[in-house]
Amino acid sequence: MTAPVNLRSTEDYRKMDAAHHWHPFTDTAELNAKGARVFTGAEGVWLRDSEGNRILDGMAGLWCVAVGYGRPEIVEAVTRQLQDLPYYNTFFQCTHPSAAEFAEAVTAVAPAHLNRVFFTNSGSESNDTVFRLARVYWDCMDKPSKKQFIARRNGYHGSTVVGASFGGMSAMHGQSDLPIEGIHHIGQPYWFGEGRETGMTPDEFGRARARELEDKIREVGADNIAAFIAEPIQGAGGVVIPPASYWPEISRICRKHDILLVADEVICGFGRTGNWFGSDTFGIEPDLMSIAKGMTSGYVPMGGVMISDRVADVVIAKAGEFYHGYTYSGHPAACAAGLANLRIMQEEKLVERVRDDIGPYMQAKWASLGDHPLIGEARMTGLIGAAELVRRKEPIERFPDAGTTGTLCRNLSVENGLVMRAVGDTMVIAPPLVISREECDELVARARKTFDRLADHLTREGAL
Ligand SMILES: *Cc1c(COP(=O)(O)O)cnc(C)c1O
Repeated sequence: MTAPVNLRSTEDYRKMDAAHHWHPFTDTAELNAKGARVFTGAEGVWLRDSEGNRILDGMAGLWCVAVGYGRPEIVEAVTRQLQDLPYYNTFFQCTHPSAAEFAEAVTAVAPAHLNRVFFTNSGSESNDTVFRLARVYWDCMDKPSKKQFIARRNGYHGSTVVGASFGGMSAMHGQSDLPIEGIHHIGQPYWFGEGRETGMTPDEFGRARARELEDKIREVGADNIAAFIAEPIQGAGGVVIPPASYWPEISRICRKHDILLVADEVICGFGRTGNWFGSDTFGIEPDLMSIAKGMTSGYVPMGGVMISDRVADVVIAKAGEFYHGYTYSGHPAACAAGLANLRIMQEEKLVERVRDDIGPYMQAKWASLGDHPLIGEARMTGLIGAAELVRRKEPIERFPDAGTTGTLCRNLSVENGLVMRAVGDTMVIAPPLVISREECDELVARARKTFDRLADHLTREGAL
């Protein structure tokens, strides 16, 4: 790790930041009262802040740094690309070697029926592309009435107008009057949060939630619906791992009613669930697939939409020009980063490692947290997991004012040298795929210590 290059003090950075930097998903008044944490470096799974603290990144940045920090292979590939061709567009019948090579490489690891990729710069943009492409597809099919979408409550699909509308986050909808017209939401297959008390088994609950899709299709009319979009595992919603019954039923319903199935693989893609894509893990055959985060491990921003032959063949034959694209679609530096990232994943067999080795190892360790008095459930697939904070275990009782305890727990965790994220009172984890066994042990030990400290804190406050 090279020495930190702190030209100014932490306090200086906080002041500049507070005065001029408006942060995403942040209560600015609250942040400015406190001051931002300043990160200055990282290596492997470890972050370093401006005060010299070493923090284990249990979240791979924002779910994206699959191959870990400080990989010279990516830095060198991007540097070389910037020297050769820093920018050229992919409009107007132009391409460049990195875009062509990355398109081939990324479709080679995708499910067999997805043979084309449309490059974007983020997950949100990918979902905007999905919205437009799905509509164009149905126009080409001479079914122009099929223009509406079904998504899920508590799903996350990004923060642009379409992304936030596909998403089922009520707080986001509350600001700026979303969703836009023609986007409907059904319930999520969240067993611990919503299924436990129904008297159904997890599989019965999974099927019941899937059948809400069929109810919604009947209500809106299959002739009016373009697509259903969902994450294989909901990430930002709190790592909601669906019961095994859920995806087969969803797939059946989409086929039966001739609705496109869109898998938002922005988090699940690129090995997170122990296969290249969450669709492989759950046996989903998506017509369109949004990708981003793990695609470049976050070294350079990039996203994409993977397009099935079913959709591509029709649109290519019938639509003429697709009037859609981004100035930086297929950016050379992003493609170079993506190619180097993919090569690392293949050479180090990271996906197989998550499936057969480090994934099962970490899952067992993580599950052991389930014996903690504050943890009602500890679940994990591949290397994406959650732990549910509860006030009492038998019978399960959650904390009042969901989110207060989770936020406290998150802050204690960072103080304790581990980045965990809180979604309400659900603690979530998604470490880089290169994490070692020793680092898994350390992560789980720090999580346990955090839960112990949380218990002490809550006991002192009389909240337990
Ligand atoms: C993060 C995320 C997005 C949005 O990606 P951005 O790059 O932040 O626009 C979309 N879908 C899912 C499932 C995500 O997790």
